[in-house]
Amino acid sequence: MDCQDVFRQISDYLDGDLDDELKRAIKAHACGCHHCEVVVDTTRKTIELYCDGRLFALPVPVRTRLHAVLQRRCRDRLA
Ligand SMILES: [Zn+2]
Repeated sequence: MDCQDVFRQISDYLDGDLDDELKRAIKAHACGCHHCEVVVDTTRKTIELYCDGRLFALPVPVRTRLHAVLQRRCRDRLA
């Protein structure tokens, strides 16, 4: 396992799609290689942010209700 291997496997690694042996090998490499440690960490955080972002894409019923409330507020203010 070298840095190139880590880069090749990183998305599968973070998705949890790798078998245990590969996961252990990447973890072991990242422990001794600061560069890969940073890459794994940064990539994981980026994915977490991306996933969090999707939580803000409101489900349609919530969005519809929110729009209704906002429209009412606007009308109230204009009235
Ligand atoms: Zn490395």
